[in-house]
Amino acid sequence: MNIIEELVDYSRLCWDRGLTESTGGNMSVRANDNTIYITPTFTVKHFLKPKDIVRISLDDEKLGGEKEPSSERKMHLLIYKERPDVNAIFHAHPPYATAFAVSGEKIPINVLPEAVLLLRNIAYLPYKMPGTQEFADAFNLELKKGKDVFILQNHGVTVVGKSIKEAYARLETLEFLARIVMITKDFGGIHEIPQKEIREYIERIENDKT
Ligand code: 13P
Ligand code: ZN
Repeated sequence: MNIIEELVDYSRLCWDRGLTESTGGNMSVRANDNTIYITPTFTVKHFLKPKDIVRISLDDEKLGGEKEPSSERKMHLLIYKERPDVNAIFHAHPPYATAFAVSGEKIPINVLPEAVLLLRNIAYLPYKMPGTQEFADAFNLELKKGKDVFILQNHGVTVVGKSIKEAYARLETLEFLARIVMITKDFGGIHEIPQKEIREYIERIENDKT
């Protein structure tokens, strides 16, 4: 499977799993030649096809595709320029995580092992008008700190990854966590994994990688 097909499959999966709604959200991947493949603007991702994907340069030049690229491409391009380790970006409006973004309440991370691994570098960004350079610029400082999960006040979320699979895993785990936290609040309260266990778990995973 090539990266365009993979991008289409995972974008459709996002919509089909209820991780974004209507025409909301946009997804992109960086190719080996440093050009970007991105979803077109105003598209219900369930119907997305490889021919709909738009190719753009890091300087926002359109290089291929019949449709217009996502209106959030300034955010995607800023992230790719700032972070050479990032090869895939998913921006979406998943209902439970977006409820946190609307309330302004922080999502506790240390409650599920998968969340500890994938979501520990989380940032909360203030509301900015979608599609603007200001919206993209709001990511800058937190990107430099190595954050890879962004909760966007009154809007939704953006996650990044070294691959499409990793970015997707972050998005789905984030929404699962937000949902579990909401359920648990009315169901006995939230118990965190002890800090010592968290430290040892992260250490074990880091060691397994090397
Ligand atoms: P696009 O349809 O232009 O990708 O924008 C969707 C969105 O989520 C805006 O924030
Ligand atoms: Zn959006």
